[in-house]
Amino acid sequence: MAEYKRPTSEAEFNKNFKQKKPLMNDTEAFYESSRCLFCYDAPCVQACPTHIDIPLFIKQIHTDNVTGSAKTIFDANWMGNACGIVCPTGVLCEGACVYNHQDVAPIQIGRLQNYATNKTIDADKKIFSVGKPNGKKIAVIGSGPAGIACACEARTMGYEVDIFEAKEKPSGLTFHGVAPYKITNEEVLKEINYLQKQLGFKIKYNSEINSKKQLKALENDYDAIFLGVGLGETANIKLEGEDIKGVIGAVEFIEELRLKQHKVKVPDKVVVLGGGNTAMDVASESARMGARKVVLAYRNSKDSMGAYDFEYDLAISSGVDSLFNVTPIAIVGNAKVEGVKFAKTEMVEGKLQTNMNNVFIVRCDLVIKATGQAKQGSLYDLIDNLEVDHKTVVKVNKDTFQTTNPKYFAGGDAINGGAEVVNAAYDGKMAVQGIHNWLNKK
Ligand SMILES: Cc1cc2nc3c(=O)[nH]c(=O)nc-3n(C[C@H](O)[C@H](O)[C@H](O)COP(=O)(O)OP(=O)(O)OC[C@H]3O[C@@H](n4cnc5c(N)ncnc54)[C@H](O)[C@@H]3O)c2cc1C
Ligand code: SF4
Repeated sequence: MAEYKRPTSEAEFNKNFKQKKPLMNDTEAFYESSRCLFCYDAPCVQACPTHIDIPLFIKQIHTDNVTGSAKTIFDANWMGNACGIVCPTGVLCEGACVYNHQDVAPIQIGRLQNYATNKTIDADKKIFSVGKPNGKKIAVIGSGPAGIACACEARTMGYEVDIFEAKEKPSGLTFHGVAPYKITNEEVLKEINYLQKQLGFKIKYNSEINSKKQLKALENDYDAIFLGVGLGETANIKLEGEDIKGVIGAVEFIEELRLKQHKVKVPDKVVVLGGGNTAMDVASESARMGARKVVLAYRNSKDSMGAYDFEYDLAISSGVDSLFNVTPIAIVGNAKVEGVKFAKTEMVEGKLQTNMNNVFIVRCDLVIKATGQAKQGSLYDLIDNLEVDHKTVVKVNKDTFQTTNPKYFAGGDAINGGAEVVNAAYDGKMAVQGIHNWLNKK
């Protein structure tokens, strides 16, 4: 079990958040690419939401055509570099690799992908061209993976594109949410700069779209609008004492960590509420920030957690303790958090019940709620005829990504309720085909 020293400098922060998937060197890439069997109907390709031609890009690496390899990757996935590092490859492409059937380690597809794209970005190779101007304009709301992919694809087809972004930095949760041991701020920004330099889409930062007047202006000025707004802040869980100082949402905690790194002070005792991947990340991050005791508390059994096993294992190997079958019933403390009162839970006739006769307190100085993000309902309410489902997820035509207001298209977390970077990148790219077909039919 790891024990981390509280980081006080950038170097110490980087040491505690050492990259999980380090870059391959040329020899490693040559050797690893030689192992690929270049399967016909390759299962790895089927398992990739963007269907990158994986055997082709691996072959290109092996024949020293690294730039061609990067082109193969970006042609399918505009976030190809980030996805090589942040994708849960073990349950996607690498999980499907035929080697798994022979008890042999699968090809390290993510690291090979990252090798090709990173080398190409660092060498500033020009591999994309802007399409012949078609006189039409697309407004993109949000510069997350969905918005960036939409902008890139639209530029290759000759559209003018402006992205409106609420924050100061691009790339949405890839920059503000993904754990720093998966991808660094520099790596995220490097890819966006590279794409932007070649494709020339504009990003207007600090430009939140939050009024009917702004939306009407976009509707007048642009031919189509793409909603890539993701999800909102951590949702309220309506728990007694939730407003006490020292209770924070996971998304807000991670954003601060990504922006301020070692300057964030994490206290000694932390309780994390939740059982999804975000809960695992935030628990592991708290431990890496030097907290002495981090307790991950989940209301059901380990097997019912939403988190991937590898994310749980990573949290545990970072020194995190876990408590299963407990539900928080109150946050304890006056001026600031002193603990969380839990009750045990148990399954009774297939339903999870709280046992109020079995109640106890876990002392802590910080409570992190990793219990899900709120949706962007207040924005959706401003858009005429935009329909959302009962979970405030935007309804789209699955083939065209068009919403119930024909001028608006949408993708990413806004339409799937929260998935991965690769899904958002796919949606943004495919939505442009929907926009293009709609505008050309009009
Ligand atoms: C803690 C955490 C860890 C994660 N880790 C991983 C991981 O390891 N691997 C992985 O593949 N996925 C991970 N994900 C999921 C992944 O980050 C998201 O699925 C993906 O970023 C969604 O992309 P998006 O473009 O739909 O939305 P987002 O990335 O959320 O981007 C939305 C953008 O829109 C902007 N915006 C919102 N509203 C407005 C507005 N009204 N006006 C202007 N701009 C606006 C936001 O500021 C933001 O930049 C993680 C998610 C979280 C929360
Ligand atoms: S399944 Fe594995 S061996 Fe086959 S093409 Fe994909 S990466 Fe190569």
